[in-house]
Amino acid sequence: MSHDSVAVELEDVSVRYGGVTALDSVSLSVAPGEFFTLVGPSGCGKTTTLRVLAGLERPTEGTVRVDGEDVTDRPPEDRNVGIVFQSYALFNHMNVRENVGYGLRFRDPPDDRSPAARVEHLLDLVDLGGMGDRDPTELSGGQRQRVALARALAPGPDLLLLDEPLSALDARLRERLRVTVRRIQRELGTTTVYVTHDQAEALAVSDRVAVMNAGRIEQVGRPETVYRRPASRFVAAFVGDNNLLDAEVTTDGAARLVDDTAVTVPLPELADRPAGDRVTLSVRPEAFTLGEGVVTLPVSVENVEFLGESYRLHCAWAGRELLVRSRDRATGDIEVGFDPAEGHLL
Ligand code: ATP
Repeated sequence: MSHDSVAVELEDVSVRYGGVTALDSVSLSVAPGEFFTLVGPSGCGKTTTLRVLAGLERPTEGTVRVDGEDVTDRPPEDRNVGIVFQSYALFNHMNVRENVGYGLRFRDPPDDRSPAARVEHLLDLVDLGGMGDRDPTELSGGQRQRVALARALAPGPDLLLLDEPLSALDARLRERLRVTVRRIQRELGTTTVYVTHDQAEALAVSDRVAVMNAGRIEQVGRPETVYRRPASRFVAAFVGDNNLLDAEVTTDGAARLVDDTAVTVPLPELADRPAGDRVTLSVRPEAFTLGEGVVTLPVSVENVEFLGESYRLHCAWAGRELLVRSRDRATGDIEVGFDPAEGHLL
């Protein structure tokens, strides 16, 4: 690690533009060296959160802390933050080497290297060694984003902010580069906040994920937790494929699905819930098996997508769609089963 990593914290941060509330009392804390991702649909407040962390946006209310110190009123240039945006914001009149060295005009290298050696080190780190003399116009999109990353990292920022840095690239390259970004981040240990609208990308790269919706944080957790134990209906529906089954608690503490079939699902967690309470059961497509299960549902397969390692079956059941992952192709009227213990109650 080139320097000690810092913790970053937002406490009750709100940002309002006239009548628009972009952020509504957002609190989060990012641990030193953590790769922390903000994910959510368009307009949910991801970029605004990043701008507040960078000092580009002054919160209407709330506090920003870096390493416990209140930096809310500190301008961006006094925050030692590196930023990479979606668009390739490279200086086209400078070659790659000059781009990467740009921040070292204002700040000494964080290690004992000379500025020139620091630039070469960063170019090697992003696998662009030997490309220093090129102009940005002579690079591919992926190479440009790696230059942007090297430029952001050269001065040894306390905090690295990445705003959809891969979203302009094609899918294959995006998947490759996210691994590169993560490897470099881990190597340097820089505390990082990453913004994406792509939930699969968020799950793949992050130590922890914050799922945002309409200016608020719905859940913060490890990718596995957010996927397996979504805290709200929104998170359950936004992260990954899912089936949300509405049900009513029965007098004997089971869940009766609220649909034409009135299938009853035994759920020990419901023992203490009053009869008549409405609950939602989240059942992931991969929790189903073809054929009978603890709970069996008769479905009709309406569409089959071949995904390589599995099939995604779009099934019609009780007037709605049920998504089922299966290793085998299936068509027509079939039965699918699941074990409620593999479901998650919302
Ligand atoms: P996207 O994924 O589309 O970039 P986002 O999650 O990053 O979206 P933000 O850009 O943070 O969302 O915007 C949050 C909300 O604040 C949106 O409703 C947006 O329209 C509003 N907003 C952002 N900037 C301004 C501004 N300068 N003036 C007025 N409203 C704004």
